[in-house]
Amino acid sequence: MKRETCKLLILGAGPGGYVCANRAGQLGIDTILVEAQALGGTCLNVGCIPSKALIHAADEFHLVRHLAEGNPLGITAAAPAIDLTQTVAWKDGIVKRLTGGVAGMMKKAKVRVITGQGQIIDGKTVEVETQEGPLRISTESLVIATGSRPQDIGALPFGGDILSSTDVLNMQSVPKRLAVVGGGYIGLEIGTAMAKLGAQVTVIEAAAQILPQYDADLTKPVMARLKTLGVTVLTGAKAAGFGNGSLEIQTKEGPQTIDADKVLVTVGRVPVTDGFGLEGLGLTMQGRFIDIDDRCRSSMHGVFAIGDVTGDPMLAHRAMAQGTLVAEVIAGNAARWDKRAIPAVCFTDPEIVTVGLLPADAPDAGVALFPLAGNGRSLTLERRDGFMRIVYDKGTGLVLGIQAIGAGLSEMAGEFALALEMAATLTDIAETIHAHPTLGEAVQEAAIEGLLAQQ
Ligand SMILES: Cc1cc2nc3c(=O)[nH]c(=O)nc-3n(C[C@H](O)[C@H](O)[C@H](O)COP(=O)(O)OP(=O)(O)OC[C@H]3O[C@@H](n4cnc5c(N)ncnc54)[C@H](O)[C@@H]3O)c2cc1C
Repeated sequence: MKRETCKLLILGAGPGGYVCANRAGQLGIDTILVEAQALGGTCLNVGCIPSKALIHAADEFHLVRHLAEGNPLGITAAAPAIDLTQTVAWKDGIVKRLTGGVAGMMKKAKVRVITGQGQIIDGKTVEVETQEGPLRISTESLVIATGSRPQDIGALPFGGDILSSTDVLNMQSVPKRLAVVGGGYIGLEIGTAMAKLGAQVTVIEAAAQILPQYDADLTKPVMARLKTLGVTVLTGAKAAGFGNGSLEIQTKEGPQTIDADKVLVTVGRVPVTDGFGLEGLGLTMQGRFIDIDDRCRSSMHGVFAIGDVTGDPMLAHRAMAQGTLVAEVIAGNAARWDKRAIPAVCFTDPEIVTVGLLPADAPDAGVALFPLAGNGRSLTLERRDGFMRIVYDKGTGLVLGIQAIGAGLSEMAGEFALALEMAATLTDIAETIHAHPTLGEAVQEAAIEGLLAQQ
């Protein structure tokens, strides 16, 4: 058997793994990155990037369709058609460009990339099944960055017309009737896109509301828009089985059936912690996730874990930040996790952005809100739904959380996160000149509302 040695071995090349490898390489650490499938992991190949490509194509298609139906702007347009095969090929081109970019990045950072399924032998040894045969690698430090996979449900196993998020992103035509089981962010992002592409969409959500992690004020504009798009949302409903184009569901009123050509199951994601010898390390777990400290160290010396295997929020930018942190720790730098906030964006229509505390997390805090109906830029974009909201400490005006809902507001996530990282107060935001006319002015207006309430 062939053998290799390195100082750092990273298992999994998603945003956690490749960012860690890149920073480690830059810091001069002899690094090997092992990936069973494609560089870029879930995020680049079957997650963030392809889903946003599909959402963009759906938005463009919907816009032309909307214009063709008549509009006050004086624009004439013909009814559009879409060739989803071409859309998917375009999306694949973006993915290829980005994964190629990761390969180039690894080369520049002098990271050795090994393709194959890694099997952990012990905390310092990994065996990889490569095309040229097995390769045994000895390492000083091991980073587990194996990510997550879609969760299935017993009543609806993936296969045939029952699709995971991975399957739906590669569909060659728009289904006539699509049932989406699970009203979390992945199901709603894809469900909205499919509705804009012309599918008749029904969302089935077991909880009392869609996007259960957010409050009703944030979800209300999304619900209203789904209704406008013709999407049926059934809450308090559970999928019980599928056959012959009919999805059985259990509701408070009793069993019902929904006609569907395809069923998309998006009920969550499970960490990939089995099937590659991890159990043999006997690491301390937090439920299904690997337990880590503020330096991403697991309970075994020299073994680190980052990204989706370490729990919520299972988001690419958290994995990336942890990847950078671990490279610094292994290089001997005094780095630790001291982030104040991790932004989260839901790319529905309108988009939801949240950073820090929600009003329900801080019952004694002040809450200032500015509706986008009062924002000039919003009106010029033909939208008036949504708002900016700031949760702040009543005594000091310290910003504890910012939430926004509105078309195109995902780009505000950076400003919001910066405000929390810099410990901004209402005054800081209110006194910062925001360009006019922009949607961002609404967060300044919300801060001014907060200051007025404090007087
Ligand atoms: C449809 C969808 C949309 C999403 N949209 C967003 C979004 O807009 N924003 C956002 O922040 N997040 C989004 N996410 C979540 C995001 O993709 C994940 O949080 C992120 O990819 C996690 O990164 P990771 O590095 O932990 O793992 P992953 O990206 O899952 O990568 C893990 C890698 O490890 C490899 N691997 C596993 N086991 C082994 C082994 N034994 N040997 C070798 N290789 C192995 C896998 O093949 C995989 O490539 C989305 C996810 C989905 C599914």
